Amino acid sequence: MVIFTEVACALYCPGCGSLEVYNFSLFTLGRGNFQIRCPCGCVLLDIERQKGKGFGVQFNCIICGARHCWPFPRWDRLGAELFTFFCEDMGLEAGFMGPRPLVQQAMKQLDRTLAEIAADLGLLDGRWI
Ligand SMILES: [Zn+2]
Ligand SMILES: [Zn+2]
Repeated sequence: MVIFTEVACALYCPGCGSLEVYNFSLFTLGRGNFQIRCPCGCVLLDIERQKGKGFGVQFNCIICGARHCWPFPRWDRLGAELFTFFCEDMGLEAGFMGPRPLVQQAMKQLDRTLAEIAADLGLLDGRWI
């Protein structure tokens, strides 16, 4: 299994609506708390170091507007596996985190899924996404 030391996050910004991929190093994650911010200034992820190899993520959800929290027992797993930020309120995927190739693959599917959802809801006017 290939372990990546760079972690990619694909995140929508609740402030300005942009979808961007952000990268950070697993070593950053091992050192302490940090935040991922959109260039507009909005905090997208709050990452909090916990005991041992554990950490917690607070995610600002663009879909429902709430904060979702996930505990991760092992930070080094992010270099090998894709994690999906899932909005339980709406039952939708709201972002991804993990090795860059897997994140990019997931984003392609997310784009299609969001477009389908938008079409179903009658929201698709060409500018919604
Ligand atoms: Zn923004
Ligand atoms: Zn949500």
